[in-house]
Amino acid sequence: MISIFWFGRDRRLQDNEALTFAAESSPSLLPVFVYPADSIGLSSLREASIAASVKALSESLPLGLQVITGDPAVVLKELAKKSGASRIIATRAFDPEGAKHQHELAAALAASEVELLLIGSNYQVMPGQVLKDDGTPLRVYTPFYKRWLNFGATEPFLLDVEGVQWLAPDASIQHDFLGSVSASLQAGEKHALETWRRFRQERIFDYSDNRNRPDLNGTSKLSHALAHGEIHPRTLLAQLGNSPGEEVFRKEIAWREFYADVLFHNPHTVDEYYDKRFEQLRYDDPEKFPEKLTAWKTGQTGYPIVDAAMRQLVETGWMHNRARMIVASFLVKDLHFEWQVGARFFEQHLTDYDPASNSHGWQWTAGCGTDASPFYRVFNPILQGSKFDPAGEYVRRWIPELRHLEGARVHEPWNDIAGFQNGYPPPIIDHSQERDEALGRLEEIKR
Ligand SMILES: Cc1cc2nc3c(=O)[nH]c(=O)nc-3n(C[C@H](O)[C@H](O)[C@H](O)COP(=O)(O)OP(=O)(O)OC[C@H]3O[C@@H](n4cnc5c(N)ncnc54)[C@H](O)[C@@H]3O)c2cc1C
Repeated sequence: MISIFWFGRDRRLQDNEALTFAAESSPSLLPVFVYPADSIGLSSLREASIAASVKALSESLPLGLQVITGDPAVVLKELAKKSGASRIIATRAFDPEGAKHQHELAAALAASEVELLLIGSNYQVMPGQVLKDDGTPLRVYTPFYKRWLNFGATEPFLLDVEGVQWLAPDASIQHDFLGSVSASLQAGEKHALETWRRFRQERIFDYSDNRNRPDLNGTSKLSHALAHGEIHPRTLLAQLGNSPGEEVFRKEIAWREFYADVLFHNPHTVDEYYDKRFEQLRYDDPEKFPEKLTAWKTGQTGYPIVDAAMRQLVETGWMHNRARMIVASFLVKDLHFEWQVGARFFEQHLTDYDPASNSHGWQWTAGCGTDASPFYRVFNPILQGSKFDPAGEYVRRWIPELRHLEGARVHEPWNDIAGFQNGYPPPIIDHSQERDEALGRLEEIKR
């Protein structure tokens, strides 16, 4: 019996429940990845990061990976027929797009002899399982976390890679994806495990102190690997102890699980308001203020911490969590654009893009999410800069035009006679005025 193993956001061989099941229950396995035909509009960096992840997966397989492009429901059905496979096995997807592709494939296979098996998830606890005593979902993080903890850590799933009868890809339909892979992009399961090992050895014990500081290398940078499924959270949690840093790290992993759970119960919130009242808030139309949106996207707002963060995003595909909150607050409460405008830009650029964490990270900051930071708590970009980048190093790293300013002075270039000498722009808006404007608009929907 031949089975197809359909890789999605689970691009790893170890601790992959569905793959271990497939290997143990199928004499021969054809590993496949499908590039959906509709994945357009992403930054070249994000495209390249996906390709690098797929390439690393292919290289980790003894005979390589079958890579095809198209609508998964169509191409996988055809491939099953062509290869004589009687089963397609995959990790169950919980993001709206992945789930849609899996539903469509199930429908396409309904009248055929080929069965689709969806097993496991990319979460420690499968979305939908953590519930209140009355069987309803949790809407607040802390009680979710307490119940989530009760599920306990579980043993990772191991795979004897050499013991599997892998099938070689069919060269006549192989998609050439290698062209877009930059040699400098590090990706894949091996890299993820090494990133985790180094973080655990070198930085996790200071994590609770340093995680909020964009100027320090204080976080794990595992979001990319988790988003691509190059590592499973089970692997991380199984090795976590109870030091303060490890406790906080466990809580952050649980935020990812909480948002996946929230999106599972409320799939529309990937691009709609979780708290519907905020649909009524008066927002500005970005088409009427294109120069403001462009300044935000290109790191030219004149607020150094905002601009450093946006340049970090565009140049590297990653942004520090504190910085994500600062730029999101700025877009929604200083520029008065809807959160979806920023979320879409993040989707195009973040190499760790995750629909649940992104949409709900934005909604948390915009005051309209579950457990959200209240709308009236408007981040002051100057105070945020001085507090979380106290010596100004983060700003100087990303904004060459401000490197001549020393220490925390870099957060307020307008106070320095030489502040604008290298072409850095003056602020495009006045923060205190726009804060009042935002709070005024909030009053309108409270009435
Ligand atoms: C507006 C906004 C958008 C975001 N978009 C994404 C996104 O698209 N993809 C994404 O993975 N994260 C997103 N986050 C969450 C967070 O910023 C990143 O997970 C984190 O910065 C990744 O860096 P790290 O791996 O070094 O994190 P660490 O601090 O080392 O945390 C470890 C892991 O815990 C999870 N995690 C940490 N913080 C959060 C959080 N606040 N919410 C959910 N999970 C978290 C991530 O999987 C992360 O890799 C967003 C946050 C905000 C405020």
